[in-house]
Amino acid sequence: MKDLHIETKCIQAGYMPKNGESRLIPIVQSTTFKYDTSEEMGKLFDLEASGYFYTRLQNPTSDYVAAKICELEGGTAAMLTSSGQAASFYSIFNLCQAGDHVVASATIYGGTYNLFAVTMKKMGISFTFVHPDCSDEELEAAFQPNTKAVFGETIANPALVVLDIERFAKAAHAHGVPLIVDNTFATPVNCRPFEWGADIVIHSTTKYMDGHDATVGGCIVDSGNFDWMAHKEKFPGLTTPDDSYHGITYAEKFGQGGAYITKATAQLMRDLGSTPAPMNAFLLNLGLETLALRVERHCQNAQKVAEYLNAHEKIAWVNYAGLEGNKYYERAKKYMPNGTCGVISFGIKGGRTAAEKFMSRLERAIIATHVADARTCILHPASSTHRQMTDEELVAAGVGPDLVRLSVGIENAEDIIADVAQALASV
Ligand SMILES: *Cc1c(COP(=O)(O)O)cnc(C)c1O
Repeated sequence: MKDLHIETKCIQAGYMPKNGESRLIPIVQSTTFKYDTSEEMGKLFDLEASGYFYTRLQNPTSDYVAAKICELEGGTAAMLTSSGQAASFYSIFNLCQAGDHVVASATIYGGTYNLFAVTMKKMGISFTFVHPDCSDEELEAAFQPNTKAVFGETIANPALVVLDIERFAKAAHAHGVPLIVDNTFATPVNCRPFEWGADIVIHSTTKYMDGHDATVGGCIVDSGNFDWMAHKEKFPGLTTPDDSYHGITYAEKFGQGGAYITKATAQLMRDLGSTPAPMNAFLLNLGLETLALRVERHCQNAQKVAEYLNAHEKIAWVNYAGLEGNKYYERAKKYMPNGTCGVISFGIKGGRTAAEKFMSRLERAIIATHVADARTCILHPASSTHRQMTDEELVAAGVGPDLVRLSVGIENAEDIIADVAQALASV
């Protein structure tokens, strides 16, 4: 499907029914799969043959959907996970063990930051956080001899910083390690990080991919471009025999395009089990079918809302990469020429009090911690997710007391703007 457009892949990739089979992907709601002989089953356990035996490791419904996302990103192999958090964790833990180190963007999603800085630190994996706009010297200085990966977000949630993917890929490759990019906000409709040198992409499919507030999920995609064997000593998990599979060496047996995802499935899913339910994979697929349509509308609407806010006398500042003059306008044009995402952040004159009043007057936009789906929703971090912080701490975290995060949905833009206008009028 390499030559097809993204809209066609959203509908058709991943599953093509044979004669007489269901047009829509089947929901294989079964924990186990039956075999005629123990010998056949044994081959599956030895990774000598491919096939399904237990849904904790793999399920056909999930695999159809993973194959679709794989084609959307232009990768060689992919797997679904039960959440975006699980995808972030596996993407790193598949390469690292206690004593290893990762360079990560400092503006990543708060949940990912906590996973890295607190939970994975307890496992003995350390992280150095650098701002995506740091100097080349600072980026260089972040690497250590035990560094095994670099991690960043295409568009950071909620800071909306656009990552210079080429620069980060170059730095990672100069140190013989892969670049992992969380492409949740841009989606492959707007940006395909592999085309800019990223090696592995992860998603919280909970956001635009599902798009309807229905299912939590994640995905990991491998570009197949990273040569593990060329850096044999850094990645023993991929380049030396796995005793738990009779001495298979993933990079030899499954090649550059298959080793990473096979290992993540065979080891991490087997041992940790962050498996999505087949029903959730089915629902995710329904979202994916309209992803290209929805993302286009999200961007059109967000652009209109951002321009409206930008011209409003009661608004102190607006952060949206689609606005000319935004710090990331040029970089976004390069990596995402068709648009960035539907999320805008802004501040109202009058700070925290004005923000709280504005929020309480909205009639259409719902107050929710969620972002990036069909419904317009809004959050004032200072009075909700970040309410334990002082104003000084909020500023230091890049989430000032006046910051409002607006996730523009796919309703009619005039209705969204009218709602914002009437709420602003009462401030
Ligand atoms: C929400 C989010 C995650 C975490 O995903 P869950 O599906 O909630 O586990 C990771 N990265 C980004 C950019 C997100 O927005």
